[in-house]
Amino acid sequence: MTDVFDAVLGQDRAVAALRHYAEHPVHAYLFTGPAGSGMHEALVAFTAALQCPDHGCGTCEACRLALTGADSDVTFALRSGTNWQVEEFAEAERVSRRRPLGVGHQIVVIENVELSTGSSAKLLKILEEPPTRTIFLLTAEALPESLVTIMSRCIEVPFSPLSIETITDYLTRDGFDALTARAAATASGGDLRRAQVLVRDTELAARIATWQSIPDRLDGVSAHVSALAIELSASIDAALAPLLVLQEEEMDRLVAEAKSLGQRSVSRRKDIESRFKREQRRFRTEDLRFGLSALTHVYRQRLVEGLEGLDDGDRRSRVMASGAIRCIEAIDAASRGLQQNIDELLMITNLLLTLSRQ
Ligand SMILES: [Zn+2]
Repeated sequence: MTDVFDAVLGQDRAVAALRHYAEHPVHAYLFTGPAGSGMHEALVAFTAALQCPDHGCGTCEACRLALTGADSDVTFALRSGTNWQVEEFAEAERVSRRRPLGVGHQIVVIENVELSTGSSAKLLKILEEPPTRTIFLLTAEALPESLVTIMSRCIEVPFSPLSIETITDYLTRDGFDALTARAAATASGGDLRRAQVLVRDTELAARIATWQSIPDRLDGVSAHVSALAIELSASIDAALAPLLVLQEEEMDRLVAEAKSLGQRSVSRRKDIESRFKREQRRFRTEDLRFGLSALTHVYRQRLVEGLEGLDDGDRRSRVMASGAIRCIEAIDAASRGLQQNIDELLMITNLLLTLSRQ
């Protein structure tokens, strides 16, 4: 039997639960798990399964409308800033009170509810006593304390990071050789999208080399620091290229599907584009973190060399070891301060200045 969940990779337990829930729905579900685990794809499949008379056959009109985002009874709430605003939840509540136009449910999706500092009370309120044909689908990539009460109002559907084997299999089926596929899967941390980008990233080794060349290139001249910071930021731009191609392909696919359904445009375009933007920011942050860890590696080696020299009572080794420790600490602090909306160039420049002073 094939159905809408067949496209969800390596999440057998969540999918089995969702198949069951599609037949016996309650008013609110909370999908939890990391980005790139297939949680978003499973959620879209679940909307189809909820609307389909056969609980997600994948071929009927209800399924196709939901899968392409063209079902007017399925609404993805839109977030304009980093955090959900009370008014945005109020708008979601207004939609949730509408009678569905079709024979299915009124489905309201609110993604990343962990970003509701200051507005979670409103979210909690809208989950109270929704109309009988309304279903809320929430997602969260983290579970802060503030979500505990919200969780108690929903059925949780947990997703784990995908296994290296699942991602390797997927990439080899997609035409990549087993060795490259496995390397990308291993480096991806269970994030399929990240693996899809890494496997296409031919410049990865060159970028690591750039980050590792930093200590030798810091000579205390601030103009050199600025140039190096710009070079690093540009290398992150380049790293994003495969992601942009994947996103373009996804949009082309949605446009073609919308056309085959006789629609002029993709219905949820704005939502999809904002998801793409979030994904680009997430990848930039991850790439930066990746670069920082490559840089830490160089200073760790210096630390080891310095400590070895210490045994001989060498003064230069002592200076080298303590300098390396301060550098590692500075990189660690920068890495911990990474957020998606950070001023990346400023952060790199400040870090390089700190490193050049050691
Ligand atoms: Zn169907």
